[in-house]
Order: sequence, then C-alpha cells, then structure tokens
Amino acid sequence: MMIVQLTYFKSSGKYYSSGSYSTSKQHLFEVWEEVQVMANSRELPDLIRGHSDFTTLVRVPDHPNDYPQLITPARSFAPQEQTILAPGNHLLTITGSGTKADPKRFHCSNCHKEFGLMLNPTTQECNK
Ligand SMILES: [Zn+2]
Repeated sequence: MMIVQLTYFKSSGKYYSSGSYSTSKQHLFEVWEEVQVMANSRELPDLIRGHSDFTTLVRVPDHPNDYPQLITPARSFAPQEQTILAPGNHLLTITGSGTKADPKRFHCSNCHKEFGLMLNPTTQECNK
C-alpha cells in the first residue's frame, strides 16, 4: 500500500485544501487513473461528496518514480442534472454522463420522451 497525497486547487489556481488515501495500485498511471475517476465522480478524498471541480495535484512519495501529476475533472461528466425550459413550457433534463456508452440526451418531463442532443431545445418543441 502506498499513500497518495492530493492537493486541490480552485479553477482560479488558488490553493483550496488537501487530502490523502492509501492505494493498492502499483503503477503511477494506475494511481492517476484512480484519482481521475474520483475527480470525475466528485468523490475526492477528504472532500464532501459532490464537491465542485478542482485541479488536483497528485504525489505518491513512496513510489520510486514519482513526479507531480495534475488531474482535471472531465468536463463531459455531469452528475448534476441540468434543466432547460423548452417552448411550450416543457422541462427538459439533460441526462447521461457524456461517454460513448452513456451519451448525453434530453428527457422531457412533460412528454416523458427521451431525445438525443441533436434537438435544439430553445427553438424546437420536443413533442413535434
Ligand atoms: Zn416535451
């Protein structure tokens, strides 16, 4: 087990706080991937679940080849739901994480239908 030290910076670049956890991963790239997943799902160690986006500096001091690595949250990953009011007062919720397996789409709470993001919700009525 190795300790992973994390330093969190706001988008402005200002220091925010720090955190750490122990990992069973052997390789640095695996550790970085692990941190990337936590950053994407906003579950970074020592922060409140669902926290806002931070740039994370990763250090693994016990690893012989350690060097500083910066992780930024994947922008396409949006667990927070966004809503859009479409013409005819239809409330559209954007769902999906934006990955190939789970592409972003609209769900209309009025028509109970799902649409791909090809729809332009500000000019098109979803039930037409
Ligand atoms: Zn609708």
